[in-house]
Amino acid sequence: MKNSLVLVLNSGSSSLKFALIDSVNGDTLLSGLGECFGLPEAVIGWKFDGQKSEEAITAEDNHHQHAINRIVKLVDDLGFSEQLVAVGHRAVHGGEKFTSTVRIDDEVLAEIDKLADLAPLHNPAGAKGIRAAMAAFPALPQFAVFDTAFHQTMPPKAYTGAISRELYEEYGIRRYGFHGTSHYFVSREAAKMLDKPVEEASFISVHLGNGASVCAISNGESVDTSMGFTPLAGLMMGTRSGDLDPGIIEFLMKKGWSQEKVFDTLNKKSGFLGVSGLTSDARGILEAMENGHEGAKLAFEVFTYRVAKYIGSYMIPLSRLDAIIFTGGIGENSLPIRREILNNLKLLGFVEDVQGNEAARFGAAGVIAKSDVLGAVAMVIPTNEEFVIAQQSVALL
Ligand code: ADP
Repeated sequence: MKNSLVLVLNSGSSSLKFALIDSVNGDTLLSGLGECFGLPEAVIGWKFDGQKSEEAITAEDNHHQHAINRIVKLVDDLGFSEQLVAVGHRAVHGGEKFTSTVRIDDEVLAEIDKLADLAPLHNPAGAKGIRAAMAAFPALPQFAVFDTAFHQTMPPKAYTGAISRELYEEYGIRRYGFHGTSHYFVSREAAKMLDKPVEEASFISVHLGNGASVCAISNGESVDTSMGFTPLAGLMMGTRSGDLDPGIIEFLMKKGWSQEKVFDTLNKKSGFLGVSGLTSDARGILEAMENGHEGAKLAFEVFTYRVAKYIGSYMIPLSRLDAIIFTGGIGENSLPIRREILNNLKLLGFVEDVQGNEAARFGAAGVIAKSDVLGAVAMVIPTNEEFVIAQQSVALL
């Protein structure tokens, strides 16, 4: 029996995603989600061996702790306790402090608490999950894998805002970027597929899920990325606006909109949802478009055009390109969206490999287009952030 299992936890303010991962081959043995924390309908559900189960969380307080205690029992009942060697946490914001995965101790936890200033939505929730897991698994080492860490190699010209330097010095305002674990994983997988050492490979990695970001990767390192000080920057997303003229914020506030209403709109009512007036879900957009819905068609066009513009501009930090990599729920599955992005990239010489594009769906990787002009391909690589978290945790044991 191998002792190589890592419990991967992703703790949000009202939810907790978990997965028991084999750090050697990436197999998911158990996965689940606790949600509606803080509400009477708090619940925890999981999938094991193809079977789904669900249970209400009846406790009145600290649903994170109750969910994690339930996971401890679940892991034990299923007979995995002996093989469990570490707990790996997905941590959102590591600021400039964390440039790679770290073993969690009191000092690290205090730093994560401090960084709540930069990520008030994410870091306190992450810290709550870590504390609950430390109480539940006192004997196991715990690790934090930061969403920002991979982007800490960006040069100052990429992360510095064109604003007063004092804002950086006083508040740490700069580009940090997120989705780092995903961009890291797919770039390593793409290099393997192209049979090239990743240290010599250059990519534009395009993660399109509910959140979306592009990353320019030169010789294996992130050199620019589209999310910024917060995940609101860059691409249009499910409900986030992505880049917009900051003057709009002033305009709306002068019209009497509260700060809360403005940012709720930009974070939760924009993107696919805002432009279509219909849904934040790409599948719903494509379906409605087929039925002639004008808003959905416009949302599709704005989204694909903006992704293509980012890809075009991310040629700038690279001296050559090996591949454009598509990943995330949309990037891995949506043929029409990938096709339209490629249509927008004709000037860069990309010609769709129709069969390849049709085959690379539902978990299959593959080449979907080629550019003779650039000597590059476009490919699909399914992301696996949990596997990276498990591998990096075990590597530090
Ligand atoms: P998250 O960022 O929350 O992890 P995902 O990476 O799972 O999200 O991506 C969710 C998005 O992927 C949704 O917009 C969903 O509609 C889209 N998606 C999933 N499967 C398909 C599909 N077969 N075709 C088109 N879009 C899909």
